[in-house]
Amino acid sequence: MNDMPRKPLIAGNWKMNGSVAMAEALVDAIVEAGPFAAADVLVMPPFPYIDRLRSRVSSAGLLIGGQDLSPHESGAYTGEVSGAMLVDVGAGYVLVGHSERRQYHGESDDVVAAKFEAAAAAGLKPVLCVGESREQREAGQTEAVVSAQVDAVLSRCGIAAFGDAVVAYEPVWAIGTGLVATPEQAQQVHAFIRARLARHDATIAGRIQILYGGSMKPQNASDLLACEDIDGGLIGGASLKADEFVAIIMASIMTSGTASAKQSDAAPG
Ligand code: PEP
Repeated sequence: MNDMPRKPLIAGNWKMNGSVAMAEALVDAIVEAGPFAAADVLVMPPFPYIDRLRSRVSSAGLLIGGQDLSPHESGAYTGEVSGAMLVDVGAGYVLVGHSERRQYHGESDDVVAAKFEAAAAAGLKPVLCVGESREQREAGQTEAVVSAQVDAVLSRCGIAAFGDAVVAYEPVWAIGTGLVATPEQAQQVHAFIRARLARHDATIAGRIQILYGGSMKPQNASDLLACEDIDGGLIGGASLKADEFVAIIMASIMTSGTASAKQSDAAPG
């Protein structure tokens, strides 16, 4: 354990939106509002725009990542993109297990764990997305679902792999719906995830950034980001509007200054 504060991370998942012109204009507007020394700011555009944006992003100190990767290194996997390819075009991060991949592409916990492993092997920082559906929450299964999703990666990759990773708690019922978890609901699951990791390594659990995702907007960001175990946001819709995304970055900076409790110590659950 130690008492280094965790730096906030605000990540924009653009999903399948945009064009070259829109991507460049969006990044230019974010850069113009910066620099944001007190927060890590990550954009995750569609694959074809990553290479195009890399110099704009890196010269401004922003981070860039992909939204998915293949679990395979290379070969006859039509349409897939490998971790090495993402690194080759300048990505440093990649989402794994986003609920839209789990839901529309049938990605199981095992596939997600294989992708996490492939990302780490390529030198990318995986952003592992976990979260329950509305039915699962109503049935009281939130912790069971989230722990199964985390444990699948732990058992394949080990706790050390979380030393260079991010976790995003994204309740499926809040993604793109305008419904948002209350700060209490979100904090409770974030603390649960941290405690789960702390069973294996309290230092890693205390340092890892755990993001909240699900209809985060400028209007609700401060209350969520002020919670002890919420270290940033994974933003979908609002990441496509520079003013909203920047307002969330600013909220993360303001709240990280005040939340003295956001220290990197974690007790096993
Ligand atoms: C997401 O897709 O990860 C997400 C959180 O989307 P939204 O912010 O639009 O709910």
